[in-house]
Amino acid sequence: MSDAPCPAPRPKPWIEAIHAYVPGKSAGDDGRPLVKLSANENPLGTSPAALAARAKAVAPSLYPDADSTALREAIGRLHGIDPALIVMGTGSGELLHTAAGAFAGPGDEVLYSQYAFSLYEIVARRCGAEPVEVPAKDYGNDVTALLAAVTPQTRVVFVANPNNPTGTFLPKAEIARLHAGLPADVLLVLDQAYAEYVDPADDDGSLELAATHPNVLATRTFSKAYGLAGERVGWGTGAAPLIDVLNRIRGAFNIGNSAQATALAALADQDFVTHSRTHNAGERARFTAKVEALGNHGLRAVPSEANFVLILFEGRLSGEAAYKGLADRGYIVRWLPSQGLAQALRITIGNRADMDAIAAILRELAEAA
Ligand SMILES: *Cc1c(COP(=O)(O)O)cnc(C)c1O
Repeated sequence: MSDAPCPAPRPKPWIEAIHAYVPGKSAGDDGRPLVKLSANENPLGTSPAALAARAKAVAPSLYPDADSTALREAIGRLHGIDPALIVMGTGSGELLHTAAGAFAGPGDEVLYSQYAFSLYEIVARRCGAEPVEVPAKDYGNDVTALLAAVTPQTRVVFVANPNNPTGTFLPKAEIARLHAGLPADVLLVLDQAYAEYVDPADDDGSLELAATHPNVLATRTFSKAYGLAGERVGWGTGAAPLIDVLNRIRGAFNIGNSAQATALAALADQDFVTHSRTHNAGERARFTAKVEALGNHGLRAVPSEANFVLILFEGRLSGEAAYKGLADRGYIVRWLPSQGLAQALRITIGNRADMDAIAAILRELAEAA
């Protein structure tokens, strides 16, 4: 027997550089269940009609419709898009990976903002490209800085609007300015995971850009306002050649039977989505006002258009102490020191009782600090 180490497959060096995505926690370090406001899930749950449809989905022994035909047709009707220009993903996360994988590789650059969605770094590294993080402005995407960072190696630019984890939002004119300033051979991915939470009057024009330019992919998800995070359904739209490429490399049967049935019924229940948006806007405003009232203690809320608020701790109470204090009292929120946000917490907007309780706990902690 030789002492030589057993040869084993070696991952590509750019794969070895990846740190796994860290999901929002749902229990304390001691395993205690906590109220989970760490993953931007819908506090209203799921449309009852969608739950009923889920129970009647095609048998799990049968393969699903590989093209999610009925679902794409319904999405197309709702948004005025040709269903042939819609690609489905196992969550919009799959589409972010396929978009980068199709257009970027070793030697290329993938651009996104500081404080952007943490998946973008993983997406860039997985295809071997170089992730390039551009300084943010007021915790949000800075169009001027993003455009200044474009090089001949830039292949894909990711912008989440609203942005996660900061909740910031670029108006339609800024998104248009970003697109207009990019070279025509750079793919702009407009990640609209929280679009349903934005006041329809403030639509950022992403779907329109995707419909009219060959280098724009707009992505949406059923995970947030539709309350279907567990079913893993997302979609994207863009020009025919772009959608064709993504369809060739996505998972072959990427949307399961129950996911297709549930999403189809959820889409038909727009009252649920409207109610989710209204509830969120109301509770977000209430909660933000309570945080702003703690300004003398150094607490500040970054203005948010999403279903969460990023709170900055610039006084005696630290982000970490606030995180632990909330956990001690049964609330798990998101503390993101690894993203350069050690002095901040991202708190999902939950129901009124929980938001009032959190505001009261923050006041108590701030006054005692
Ligand atoms: C939650 C989220 C998504 C959606 O992920 P799914 O894979 O669709 O569940 C995409 N982008 C951002 C910025 C998000 O916060």
